[in-house]
Amino acid sequence: MNNDRFYKLNSFFRKNFKEKIYKVSLDGGFTCPNRDGKISREGCLFCSDSGSGEFAGSRCKSIREQIDEQLDFMKNKIKDEKVIAYFQNFTNTYDSVENLRKKYYEALEHPKVIGIAIATRPDCLSLEIIELLNEINKKTFLWIELGLQTANDEIAKIINRGYKLDCYLEATKNLREKNIKFVTHMIVGLPNETKEDLYKTIEIINSVKSWGIKIHLLYILKNSKLLKYYEKSPFKIYTQNEYTDIVVELLERLDSNIVVHRLTGDAKKEDLFEPKWSSNKRGILNEIEKKLKIKDTFQSKEVGGKNEYNI
Ligand code: SF4
Repeated sequence: MNNDRFYKLNSFFRKNFKEKIYKVSLDGGFTCPNRDGKISREGCLFCSDSGSGEFAGSRCKSIREQIDEQLDFMKNKIKDEKVIAYFQNFTNTYDSVENLRKKYYEALEHPKVIGIAIATRPDCLSLEIIELLNEINKKTFLWIELGLQTANDEIAKIINRGYKLDCYLEATKNLREKNIKFVTHMIVGLPNETKEDLYKTIEIINSVKSWGIKIHLLYILKNSKLLKYYEKSPFKIYTQNEYTDIVVELLERLDSNIVVHRLTGDAKKEDLFEPKWSSNKRGILNEIEKKLKIKDTFQSKEVGGKNEYNI
Protein backbone atom coordinates (compact mmCIF):
# COMPACT_ATOMS: atom_id res chain seq x y z
CA MET A 1 0.00 0.00 0.00
CA ASN A 2 1.55 3.33 -1.02
CA ASN A 3 -0.97 5.77 0.54
CA ASP A 4 -1.15 7.93 -2.54
CA ARG A 5 -3.68 10.75 -2.53
CA PHE A 6 -3.63 11.44 -6.23
CA TYR A 7 -3.32 9.38 -9.40
CA LYS A 8 0.41 9.26 -10.08
CA LEU A 9 1.92 8.41 -13.46
CA ASN A 10 4.06 5.71 -11.84
CA SER A 11 0.90 4.04 -10.54
CA PHE A 12 -0.53 4.08 -14.04
CA PHE A 13 2.63 2.44 -15.39
CA ARG A 14 2.71 -0.15 -12.62
CA LYS A 15 -0.90 -1.03 -13.22
CA ASN A 16 -0.65 -1.22 -17.02
CA PHE A 17 2.93 -2.36 -17.65
CA LYS A 18 3.65 -4.11 -14.33
CA GLU A 19 6.93 -2.24 -14.06
CA LYS A 20 8.48 1.19 -13.76
CA ILE A 21 8.74 3.01 -17.07
CA TYR A 22 11.10 5.90 -17.75
CA LYS A 23 10.99 8.71 -20.28
CA VAL A 24 13.72 9.90 -22.60
CA SER A 25 13.29 13.47 -23.86
CA LEU A 26 14.02 14.06 -27.53
CA ASP A 27 14.46 17.06 -29.75
CA GLY A 28 12.93 16.07 -33.09
CA GLY A 29 14.36 19.13 -34.84
CA PHE A 30 11.00 20.83 -35.30
CA THR A 31 10.13 24.50 -34.93
CA CYS A 32 6.91 26.19 -33.82
CA PRO A 33 4.38 28.32 -35.73
CA ASN A 34 4.37 30.71 -32.80
CA ARG A 35 8.08 31.33 -33.33
CA ASP A 36 8.78 30.94 -37.03
CA GLY A 37 6.39 33.73 -38.08
CA LYS A 38 3.38 31.67 -39.15
CA ILE A 39 1.47 32.90 -36.08
CA SER A 40 4.14 35.14 -34.53
CA ARG A 41 7.88 35.45 -34.05
CA GLU A 42 7.62 36.14 -30.32
CA GLY A 43 6.64 32.71 -29.02
CA CYS A 44 4.76 32.16 -25.78
CA LEU A 45 5.93 34.62 -23.13
CA PHE A 46 7.47 31.85 -20.99
CA CYS A 47 9.05 29.83 -23.83
CA SER A 48 12.80 29.28 -23.55
CA ASP A 49 15.37 29.21 -26.35
CA SER A 50 15.12 25.44 -26.53
CA GLY A 51 11.34 25.52 -27.04
CA SER A 52 10.47 24.44 -23.48
CA GLY A 53 12.63 21.33 -23.48
CA GLU A 54 15.66 22.06 -21.30
CA PHE A 55 16.63 18.46 -20.65
CA ALA A 56 16.14 16.91 -24.08
CA GLY A 57 18.76 15.44 -26.40
CA SER A 58 20.53 17.45 -29.09
CA ARG A 59 18.71 18.17 -32.35
CA CYS A 60 21.98 17.69 -34.25
CA LYS A 61 21.75 13.96 -33.53
CA SER A 62 19.43 11.33 -34.95
CA ILE A 63 16.50 10.12 -32.86
CA ARG A 64 18.25 6.78 -32.37
CA GLU A 65 21.46 8.49 -31.21
CA GLN A 66 19.56 10.71 -28.78
CA ILE A 67 17.78 7.72 -27.25
CA ASP A 68 21.07 5.81 -26.89
CA GLU A 69 22.78 8.83 -25.39
CA GLN A 70 20.04 9.38 -22.82
CA LEU A 71 19.95 5.70 -21.92
CA ASP A 72 23.68 5.83 -21.39
CA PHE A 73 23.25 8.89 -19.17
CA MET A 74 20.66 7.01 -17.08
CA LYS A 75 22.54 3.71 -16.99
CA ASN A 76 22.81 3.70 -13.20
CA LYS A 77 19.05 4.09 -12.90
CA ILE A 78 17.75 1.99 -15.79
CA LYS A 79 18.56 -1.69 -16.08
CA ASP A 80 16.00 -3.77 -17.99
CA GLU A 81 13.21 -1.22 -17.83
CA LYS A 82 11.60 0.17 -20.94
CA VAL A 83 11.18 3.82 -21.92
CA ILE A 84 8.72 6.20 -23.53
CA ALA A 85 10.31 8.36 -26.23
CA TYR A 86 9.11 11.88 -25.48
CA PHE A 87 9.24 14.38 -28.36
CA GLN A 88 9.47 17.46 -26.20
CA ASN A 89 11.00 20.57 -27.76
CA PHE A 90 8.94 23.03 -29.79
CA THR A 91 5.90 21.71 -31.72
CA ASN A 92 6.31 18.06 -32.56
CA THR A 93 3.47 17.77 -35.08
CA TYR A 94 4.57 20.83 -37.06
CA ASP A 95 5.98 19.19 -40.19
CA SER A 96 4.83 17.14 -43.16
CA VAL A 97 3.09 13.86 -42.37
CA GLU A 98 5.95 11.95 -44.06
CA ASN A 99 8.63 13.59 -41.92
CA LEU A 100 6.62 13.10 -38.77
CA ARG A 101 6.02 9.45 -39.58
CA LYS A 102 9.74 8.92 -40.21
CA LYS A 103 10.76 10.42 -36.85
CA TYR A 104 8.07 8.72 -34.77
CA TYR A 105 8.85 5.32 -36.26
CA GLU A 106 12.57 5.82 -35.81
CA ALA A 107 11.90 6.17 -32.09
CA LEU A 108 9.56 3.18 -32.02
CA GLU A 109 12.12 0.94 -33.70
CA HIS A 110 14.47 1.28 -30.73
CA PRO A 111 14.31 -1.97 -28.70
CA LYS A 112 13.95 -0.14 -25.38
CA VAL A 113 11.05 2.05 -26.51
CA ILE A 114 7.54 0.86 -25.67
CA GLY A 115 5.67 3.98 -26.70
CA ILE A 116 5.87 7.62 -27.60
CA ALA A 117 4.69 10.92 -26.17
CA ILE A 118 4.35 13.94 -28.46
CA ALA A 119 4.19 17.54 -27.23
CA THR A 120 2.36 19.91 -29.53
CA ARG A 121 -0.15 22.74 -29.92
CA PRO A 122 -3.86 22.13 -30.59
CA ASP A 123 -3.66 24.26 -33.74
CA CYS A 124 -1.09 21.84 -35.21
CA LEU A 125 -3.34 18.80 -35.23
CA SER A 126 -4.92 18.70 -38.68
CA LEU A 127 -7.19 15.76 -39.45
CA GLU A 128 -4.39 14.34 -41.62
CA ILE A 129 -2.01 14.39 -38.65
CA ILE A 130 -4.66 12.94 -36.36
CA GLU A 131 -4.97 10.09 -38.87
CA LEU A 132 -1.22 9.42 -38.55
CA LEU A 133 -1.52 9.50 -34.76
CA ASN A 134 -4.48 7.15 -35.00
CA GLU A 135 -2.34 4.71 -37.00
CA ILE A 136 0.41 4.88 -34.38
CA ASN A 137 -2.04 4.65 -31.51
CA LYS A 138 -3.28 1.32 -32.84
CA LYS A 139 0.26 -0.07 -32.89
CA THR A 140 1.77 1.22 -29.69
CA PHE A 141 1.30 3.19 -26.50
CA LEU A 142 0.85 6.85 -27.40
CA TRP A 143 -0.06 10.07 -25.73
CA ILE A 144 -0.16 13.68 -26.97
CA GLU A 145 0.70 16.70 -24.80
CA LEU A 146 -1.15 19.98 -25.29
CA GLY A 147 -0.06 23.30 -23.81
CA LEU A 148 -3.34 24.88 -22.81
CA GLN A 149 -1.78 26.77 -19.86
CA THR A 150 -5.01 28.63 -19.07
CA ALA A 151 -8.68 28.50 -20.05
CA ASN A 152 -8.84 32.31 -19.89
CA ASP A 153 -8.41 33.72 -23.43
CA GLU A 154 -7.50 37.18 -22.08
CA ILE A 155 -4.55 35.75 -20.15
CA ALA A 156 -3.72 33.63 -23.20
CA LYS A 157 -3.35 36.91 -25.13
CA ILE A 158 -0.94 38.29 -22.53
CA ILE A 159 1.26 35.19 -22.81
CA ASN A 160 0.94 35.21 -26.62
CA ARG A 161 -0.31 31.63 -26.76
CA GLY A 162 -1.57 32.25 -30.28
CA TYR A 163 -4.79 30.26 -30.24
CA LYS A 164 -8.14 30.42 -28.45
CA LEU A 165 -9.75 28.00 -26.05
CA ASP A 166 -12.12 26.85 -28.83
CA CYS A 167 -9.14 25.50 -30.74
CA TYR A 168 -8.15 23.33 -27.75
CA LEU A 169 -11.75 22.13 -27.39
CA GLU A 170 -11.87 21.15 -31.08
CA ALA A 171 -8.50 19.35 -31.01
CA THR A 172 -9.39 17.40 -27.87
CA LYS A 173 -12.70 16.37 -29.44
CA ASN A 174 -10.85 15.05 -32.51
CA LEU A 175 -8.34 13.16 -30.36
CA ARG A 176 -11.06 11.71 -28.17
CA GLU A 177 -12.96 10.47 -31.22
CA LYS A 178 -9.91 8.38 -32.12
CA ASN A 179 -9.29 7.26 -28.55
CA ILE A 180 -5.94 9.02 -28.51
CA LYS A 181 -4.81 9.88 -25.00
CA PHE A 182 -3.76 13.45 -24.28
CA VAL A 183 -2.14 15.27 -21.39
CA THR A 184 -3.01 18.93 -20.78
CA HIS A 185 -0.46 21.40 -19.44
CA MET A 186 -1.58 24.25 -17.23
CA ILE A 187 0.47 26.97 -15.54
CA VAL A 188 -0.05 28.46 -12.09
CA GLY A 189 1.18 32.03 -11.57
CA LEU A 190 0.37 33.67 -14.92
CA PRO A 191 -0.06 37.47 -15.02
CA ASN A 192 -3.53 38.70 -13.93
CA GLU A 193 -4.65 35.18 -13.01
CA THR A 194 -7.25 34.67 -10.26
CA LYS A 195 -8.18 31.57 -8.27
CA GLU A 196 -11.35 31.38 -10.39
CA ASP A 197 -9.23 31.22 -13.57
CA LEU A 198 -7.32 28.26 -12.16
CA TYR A 199 -10.52 26.47 -11.11
CA LYS A 200 -12.01 27.14 -14.54
CA THR A 201 -8.95 25.65 -16.25
CA ILE A 202 -9.30 22.49 -14.15
CA GLU A 203 -13.01 22.38 -14.95
CA ILE A 204 -12.26 22.51 -18.70
CA ILE A 205 -9.56 19.83 -18.36
CA ASN A 206 -12.10 17.62 -16.56
CA SER A 207 -14.78 18.33 -19.15
CA VAL A 208 -12.68 17.31 -22.18
CA LYS A 209 -11.68 14.09 -20.37
CA SER A 210 -7.97 14.77 -20.58
CA TRP A 211 -6.10 11.55 -19.85
CA GLY A 212 -3.37 13.36 -17.94
CA ILE A 213 -2.35 16.72 -16.52
CA LYS A 214 0.89 18.60 -16.00
CA ILE A 215 0.66 21.47 -13.53
CA HIS A 216 3.57 23.88 -13.88
CA LEU A 217 4.65 26.76 -11.74
CA LEU A 218 5.45 29.86 -13.80
CA TYR A 219 9.10 30.69 -13.24
CA ILE A 220 11.08 33.61 -14.62
CA LEU A 221 14.43 32.90 -16.21
CA LYS A 222 17.30 35.38 -16.31
CA ASN A 223 17.63 37.20 -19.65
CA SER A 224 14.18 36.08 -20.74
CA LYS A 225 11.26 37.82 -22.43
CA LEU A 226 9.23 37.03 -19.35
CA LEU A 227 11.71 38.89 -17.14
CA LYS A 228 11.45 41.97 -19.39
CA TYR A 229 7.66 41.74 -19.15
CA TYR A 230 7.84 41.36 -15.36
CA GLU A 231 10.12 44.40 -14.99
CA LYS A 232 7.65 46.49 -17.00
CA SER A 233 4.43 45.01 -15.60
CA PRO A 234 5.17 43.25 -12.30
CA PHE A 235 2.75 40.47 -11.39
CA LYS A 236 2.30 38.36 -8.29
CA ILE A 237 4.93 35.72 -7.62
CA TYR A 238 3.66 33.06 -5.26
CA THR A 239 5.51 31.93 -2.17
CA GLN A 240 6.11 28.19 -1.87
CA ASN A 241 3.41 27.99 0.79
CA GLU A 242 0.87 29.75 -1.45
CA TYR A 243 1.78 27.60 -4.44
CA THR A 244 1.48 24.29 -2.61
CA ASP A 245 -1.87 25.39 -1.13
CA ILE A 246 -3.14 26.15 -4.63
CA VAL A 247 -1.94 22.83 -6.03
CA VAL A 248 -3.78 20.98 -3.25
CA GLU A 249 -6.96 22.88 -4.12
CA LEU A 250 -6.55 22.13 -7.82
CA LEU A 251 -6.05 18.43 -7.10
CA GLU A 252 -9.21 18.44 -5.00
CA ARG A 253 -11.10 19.68 -8.08
CA LEU A 254 -9.45 17.34 -10.57
CA ASP A 255 -11.39 14.35 -11.91
CA SER A 256 -10.22 11.10 -10.30
CA ASN A 257 -9.43 9.42 -13.67
CA ILE A 258 -6.87 12.02 -14.72
CA VAL A 259 -3.28 10.87 -14.36
CA VAL A 260 -1.02 13.44 -12.71
CA HIS A 261 2.28 13.72 -14.59
CA ARG A 262 3.71 16.79 -12.92
CA LEU A 263 3.02 19.19 -10.08
CA THR A 264 5.70 21.82 -10.51
CA GLY A 265 8.27 23.18 -12.96
CA ASP A 266 11.96 22.37 -13.22
CA ALA A 267 14.05 25.32 -14.30
CA LYS A 268 17.82 25.01 -14.23
CA LYS A 269 18.93 26.63 -10.97
CA GLU A 270 21.63 28.73 -12.58
CA ASP A 271 19.14 30.26 -15.06
CA LEU A 272 16.44 31.04 -12.50
CA PHE A 273 15.52 34.64 -11.61
CA GLU A 274 12.34 33.99 -9.55
CA PRO A 275 10.85 32.27 -7.62
CA LYS A 276 14.13 30.99 -6.18
CA TRP A 277 12.40 28.34 -4.08
CA SER A 278 11.14 26.65 -7.25
CA SER A 279 14.44 24.89 -7.91
CA ASN A 280 13.80 22.65 -4.87
CA LYS A 281 11.50 20.31 -6.74
CA ARG A 282 11.65 17.49 -4.17
CA GLY A 283 10.85 19.93 -1.33
CA ILE A 284 7.79 21.26 -3.18
CA LEU A 285 6.46 17.79 -3.91
CA ASN A 286 7.00 16.71 -0.30
CA GLU A 287 5.13 19.78 0.91
CA ILE A 288 2.17 19.03 -1.39
CA GLU A 289 2.03 15.42 -0.14
CA LYS A 290 2.25 16.61 3.46
CA LYS A 291 -0.56 19.15 3.02
CA LEU A 292 -2.81 16.56 1.40
CA LYS A 293 -2.26 14.35 4.42
CA ILE A 294 -2.72 17.06 7.06
CA LYS A 295 -5.90 18.28 5.35
CA ASP A 296 -6.94 14.65 4.95
CA THR A 297 -7.87 15.34 1.36
CA PHE A 298 -7.20 13.86 -2.11
CA GLN A 299 -7.62 14.31 -5.86
CA SER A 300 -11.32 14.79 -6.83
CA LYS A 301 -12.56 15.24 -3.26
CA GLU A 302 -14.41 18.45 -4.21
CA VAL A 303 -15.98 16.90 -7.33
CA GLY A 304 -17.42 13.81 -5.75
CA GLY A 305 -14.48 11.38 -6.12
CA LYS A 306 -13.19 8.69 -3.78
CA ASN A 307 -9.70 8.23 -2.40
CA GLU A 308 -8.73 5.23 -4.54
CA TYR A 309 -5.18 5.91 -5.56
CA ASN A 310 -3.44 3.13 -3.66
CA ILE A 311 -2.80 1.07 -6.76
S1 SF4 B 1 3.96 26.59 -28.36
FE1 SF4 B 1 5.65 25.73 -27.19
S2 SF4 B 1 7.45 25.93 -28.50
FE2 SF4 B 1 5.85 27.25 -29.35
S3 SF4 B 1 6.26 29.25 -28.48
FE3 SF4 B 1 4.75 28.27 -27.15
S4 SF4 B 1 5.96 27.20 -25.54
FE4 SF4 B 1 7.36 27.76 -27.23
